[in-house]
Amino acid sequence: MALRKIRLSTDEVLRKKSKEVVEINQKIIELLDDMADTMYEANGVGLAAPQVGVLRRVVVIDIGEGLIELINPVIIETAGEQLGEEGCLSVPGKVGEVKRPNYCKVEALNRDGDKIVVEGEEFMARALCHEIDHLNGELYIDKVEGTIEDV
Ligand code: ZN
Repeated sequence: MALRKIRLSTDEVLRKKSKEVVEINQKIIELLDDMADTMYEANGVGLAAPQVGVLRRVVVIDIGEGLIELINPVIIETAGEQLGEEGCLSVPGKVGEVKRPNYCKVEALNRDGDKIVVEGEEFMARALCHEIDHLNGELYIDKVEGTIEDV
């Protein structure tokens, strides 16, 4: 386990589309471990692989309810709408209001290669959408309604 360097929003890697994980090998397991370490060290609630410079569809989330690891996550259902404040470890010291679905259901693989379904409302739905956006090269700052403010 090791900390990885978090890329900032000016880094081109954050604008690229990540590739699906074809085989969950030792490299992917190490990536998951390192991403969790890096997220916790930075006091974040989520981290996507491109944020540590790896263009693979891998996400970790912990909104205070335990660690969730998602490999090849796909949003399969959303409902409702919410407007709320969002930040990003790649955009330190800033927040902005973003419209997101109020409910989000995601299908993914866990580190054992088992298919899992993760769903959540409110903040969890926001975290799922935000992190999966990263895998498509999208940042929350593209979607802010109003202004991006200093924390
Ligand atoms: Zn982010």
